[in-house]
Amino acid sequence: MILYPKFYLKSIKDISIELLRDNKIKGLILDVDNTLIDVDRKIIEGAEEWCKNLKENGIKICILSNTSHEDKVIYVAKKLEIPYIHFAKKPCKSGFYKAKKLIEIDKNEQIGVVGDQLFTDVIGANRVKMVSILVQPVDKRDFWYTKIKRPVENLFIKRYEKKYGGKNKCI
Ligand SMILES: [Mg+2]
Repeated sequence: MILYPKFYLKSIKDISIELLRDNKIKGLILDVDNTLIDVDRKIIEGAEEWCKNLKENGIKICILSNTSHEDKVIYVAKKLEIPYIHFAKKPCKSGFYKAKKLIEIDKNEQIGVVGDQLFTDVIGANRVKMVSILVQPVDKRDFWYTKIKRPVENLFIKRYEKKYGGKNKCI
């Protein structure tokens, strides 16, 4: 099912080095809005340490964001000290291929794509056969354009949970 993630976790911080090793994931492509920051652009607590730890363990990480606000993405990229791509047009494949070049990992199945939305992050990752990792949105609040999609996404997430028995499950 193209809409279903391989993993559904509460937060990026649940992505441990063990989980990545067990699944042969060598790189991560991260979403920004509501994955790393809230609507007020506040980075989630512990994100910098989490990112640093993964990098020290050899995981290559970059940002792939659909936002056109480059300043916002630069701010997060600088904090986490990782490269970025903005205005990515996810779920289009092109952004994922650009990100793959940025982190220099040859095999798509060794790349995890992390984000809070089914219709951009998960579908995009599944289309290019990367490992889709859905996380719960950081903020209950959404930008207007996400607000429209969210109820439909939640329907699919409920179905997914029913089928695979809740969060933190791997399919
Ligand atoms: Mg997002």
